[in-house]
Amino acid sequence: MGTYKSQDDYDYLFKVVLTGDSGVGKSNLLSRFTKNDFSHDSRSTIGVEFATRSIQVDDKIVKAQLWDTGILLAKKAITSAYYRGAVGNKADLRHLRAISTETSALEALNVENTFTEVLTQIYRVVS
Ligand code: GDP
Ligand code: MG
Repeated sequence: MGTYKSQDDYDYLFKVVLTGDSGVGKSNLLSRFTKNDFSHDSRSTIGVEFATRSIQVDDKIVKAQLWDTGILLAKKAITSAYYRGAVGNKADLRHLRAISTETSALEALNVENTFTEVLTQIYRVVS
């Protein structure tokens, strides 16, 4: 008999906080990754919301608890140092590009591999 894992079982739980200016696409990146969903007229997030998704890394189930910060937290106490070298969203808006590697929640571009990369790197540190 093999071991049975229910959908809720996981080996690691990592908390990932999405932060950035209002309107850059945090909520849609989150919904693209957790629900494969995109909204053209998404409402501003007010407080903090979260969604989860589990992925497999090696033979482990890594559950990501992705926190979406809203307008109340977006600017508070977060300095630009945290953003340095970070990945941007809206890669489809090429003519406005400011940095080299971006995601697009709209086109589902680099969303899967960005979150997978982040979670895998955290996993490598703690495992
Ligand atoms: P948040 O305030 O950072 O959570 O941003 P939202 O996820 O609410 O997105 C703000 C606006 O940008 C919405 O109108 C979205 O439809 C739009 N948006 C989000 N992601 C993308 C993207 O990848 N490409 C484009 N073109 N628009 C996007
Ligand atoms: Mg939002």
